[in-house]
Amino acid sequence: MSAGDDSPRVVALAGGVGGAKLAHGLALTGLGERLSVVVNTGDDFTLYGLHISPDLDTVLYTLGGLANPETGWGVAGDTLITHEMLGEYGIETWFMLGDKDLATHILRTERLRNGDSLSEIMGDLAQGLGINARLLPMTDDPVATKLATDAGLLDFQEYFVRRRHGDDVHRIEFDGIDAARLPEPVGAALDSADVIVICPSNPFVSVDPILAVPGLRERMLASPAPVVAVSPIIGGAAVKGPAAQMLASLGHDVSAAGVAAYYREFVDVMVIDTVDKNLAGDVEALGMTVAVTDTLMQSDADRRALAAFTLEVGRSQRLARAG
Ligand code: GDP
Repeated sequence: MSAGDDSPRVVALAGGVGGAKLAHGLALTGLGERLSVVVNTGDDFTLYGLHISPDLDTVLYTLGGLANPETGWGVAGDTLITHEMLGEYGIETWFMLGDKDLATHILRTERLRNGDSLSEIMGDLAQGLGINARLLPMTDDPVATKLATDAGLLDFQEYFVRRRHGDDVHRIEFDGIDAARLPEPVGAALDSADVIVICPSNPFVSVDPILAVPGLRERMLASPAPVVAVSPIIGGAAVKGPAAQMLASLGHDVSAAGVAAYYREFVDVMVIDTVDKNLAGDVEALGMTVAVTDTLMQSDADRRALAAFTLEVGRSQRLARAG
């Protein structure tokens, strides 16, 4: 699908499953290559010598129409034959890698070893799956999210998958972030954006690492494009994952208003769910514009509708500024 010249240039910041769903909705509105999705790489890690990029792959498979609808991650209908064989050898297999999914990791790892950048590789994989949107890693340099818990400083996958995000998180670090360089296409996309969307992703381990890439936040703030965020918290709970528990343990209000307060310095419009409409006044009191709609994405139609709503509030904000 190729977009007309009058469709907006959109940059979406995304983590994994929640972010991928809205990114898919944005793609479904027909933005084509005018959509750039900047994805967290702080969860990347190495397993069996393979470079795994969980969030990038979730966005890749979702935009490519291959994602497993039950989990939101992995490839639909994938098998676990390799995973089971590793188990036969007595290997502790707490991180599940499907057979088709492994093809992505094998290809990526080989190309990284040959000196290609993660950006180039993900661009080619996206093209291979017929994706028109630009899939952009937040950086090509290694960044590793670590979580301080009562059980010590945990690697992201140790915390998230192995320990099933059961630990209270007291502090978060992004190892390597100071040396991480902003890829040129990410900076350029921000400079020329008409709307910047912060997807309903985990604020602390999906959105924060992206914003922490040196220069990214400054480029976003310098861009004339309004920044519209969709709350990942609905009715005081996360749709999935540890966002609500993290809000609490890190000392924030566990609500869409708590997320808005956390985002207040860089977000212009906060999209909150209809069930949270009573919080609209609290969000406005932070100096933000608030927009209320149904934000639970259970179907492709839901994704598209939320994306269209998000673009419309971005457009209104742009017009209000121009006027
Ligand atoms: P992860 O890396 O796979 O955990 O994915 P993300 O960080 O992108 O997304 C996790 C967040 O997305 C959680 O806080 C969820 O509450 C939120 N989320 C997931 N699905 C939806 C949805 O349909 N609507 C909204 N508003 N939030 C969602």
